[in-house]
Amino acid sequence: MPQNEILQLQDNEDENGDYLFPEIEDDVFEETMSSAIAEIMANHSDEQELVEKSTVPLQLGFPPIPDIATLEYYDWVDEVISKAGLVFEGNQPPGTKTIGRSAELRLYSTLQDAVQSFLETLDGTESQQEVVDAVREVIARWSEVNIPLMNRTFEELFKRGLLAGVVAVGQRLDIGDEKVLELLRESELKIGSRIVLFSEDIANRYQKVVERNFGPTEEYNLPAMVRQLNDVAPARRFELERIARTEVGQTSGIGRFWAWAKEPEDLYFYQYNWNSTPDTRRRKMKEIRQSWNPLTWDEAWFLWSHNKQMVDGKWQNGNINCRCTVSRTPVDDEYTGNRFAGRENMFERTLDVDMPWE
Ligand SMILES: [Zn+2]
Repeated sequence: MPQNEILQLQDNEDENGDYLFPEIEDDVFEETMSSAIAEIMANHSDEQELVEKSTVPLQLGFPPIPDIATLEYYDWVDEVISKAGLVFEGNQPPGTKTIGRSAELRLYSTLQDAVQSFLETLDGTESQQEVVDAVREVIARWSEVNIPLMNRTFEELFKRGLLAGVVAVGQRLDIGDEKVLELLRESELKIGSRIVLFSEDIANRYQKVVERNFGPTEEYNLPAMVRQLNDVAPARRFELERIARTEVGQTSGIGRFWAWAKEPEDLYFYQYNWNSTPDTRRRKMKEIRQSWNPLTWDEAWFLWSHNKQMVDGKWQNGNINCRCTVSRTPVDDEYTGNRFAGRENMFERTLDVDMPWE
């Protein structure tokens, strides 16, 4: 079997694989977004505040939250923000979609550039260990350089996600929102954390390709290895392209919890539901989580803040490209308890700040 097919098969083994955005090949669109994002970054200042506070009533009827795997997710955020009358400084033409898409594309193109220039330096005299070390170094440098560059962009997305989450459940904005944002901003496991996870994952993939090419049954062939290494990033493009949407989706999810927590007396008069998208890309841990429905408030927040879980004796990280949401329905009797108390060793906390309701 040719190497390419092997590579293909291995990628498909990943339940989140096989997800590409062919429509992204649009140079004009990419250019428009690049200048828009440059403008946003230039205008950004830390004093930036919401110009208007929202007093949005539920009756506005927000559309259901779309899958973050689709670009409609950005439209949803923009629609909620616009219906709620929220105005962001520096938000002249570009909306959430522009900011998010631009960040996604930038991550992808910088990674591709970094790997390609490295591959051009190979002359075939390198040992397996040298190639592995060098490619890991390239990825490490890529993430070190790009995470800080992306932070402002992600903060902007973060704010939109959180506030969209709050207003979409019909809550008013208040001074507490800024505090929650501040907490999340200080948290180490949020902005950029998914890029770190991604870069570890992709470095492992490069290493595997190198090891296979130097393998005992393989006749070492530099051009063939370079070709295969060049295929690694495009095969993972879908992940990078959803990192920004995941950030928005996750903060929007936190916004919902925060909005609910604004009325603490009601928290236990609801049953909460973990919703995951039932398609072939769903991880097993998300299926399991959904089977635990209905959840109490405490259980729902526990799972949301512990998005890593032991499944069949192995850790599954639900953090990269998480498409899950939590919803709730009212019940007459108080609904309390926490089935996960005492089972904390089966989970790992993925949010490293305590929220105001904890
Ligand atoms: Zn998920």
